[in-house]
Amino acid sequence: MNELLIFLGPPGAGKGTQAKKLCSDRSLTQLSTGDMLRSHVKRGTELGVEAKKIMDRGELVSDDIIVGMVRDELSNASDGGARFLFDGFPRTTAQAEALDNLLASMNTGLDAVLLLEVNEEEVIQRLLKRAELEGRSDDNEETIRNRMSVYKSQTAPLIEYYDNKGLLKRVDGQGTIDDVYARLSGHFA
Ligand code: AMP
Repeated sequence: MNELLIFLGPPGAGKGTQAKKLCSDRSLTQLSTGDMLRSHVKRGTELGVEAKKIMDRGELVSDDIIVGMVRDELSNASDGGARFLFDGFPRTTAQAEALDNLLASMNTGLDAVLLLEVNEEEVIQRLLKRAELEGRSDDNEETIRNRMSVYKSQTAPLIEYYDNKGLLKRVDGQGTIDDVYARLSGHFA
């Protein structure tokens, strides 16, 4: 059976961590556009070389490139149904509209959009800590602040976009990983 979820929230809200747990519990495939881009960077593909410059500035890779990557992944959906959790996608209204069209062409649609809410200072502290632990080149303070401002201007409008469709579920993202996961799972009880 199909199940299609989106994780929305600022960088550092814990989307990736929570997505991994939910995907394993609900047998979903996690589609993280950030992970896909980092894989291109690591492999040194043409796309990776271009994307790295944009990611290191904390800006967004073009909608066409992102939508193309997601379209390719969705075309691999198995006969057992489309079971995906989108993590870090969509990030712009144009991406959200493209996703609606892609899913409509597959005769399916979104089940829910989970918004992880964490206050801005906490998110910045978490990202600075991740910078130390993982050494991601886009986790320095200047880039982090830019990613936050890009989130507010380009991605936050999606909160209203999905709320208007009756799909938005708000989850308090403060506290430990287990606290947050308990609240999140409550939406699936
Ligand atoms: P993330 O791991 O989701 O925080 O993504 C890291 C970086 O990859 C972002 O700051 C963007 O530069 C780029 N990126 C990831 N997903 C998208 C997307 N859906 N649209 C545009 N750029 C993206």
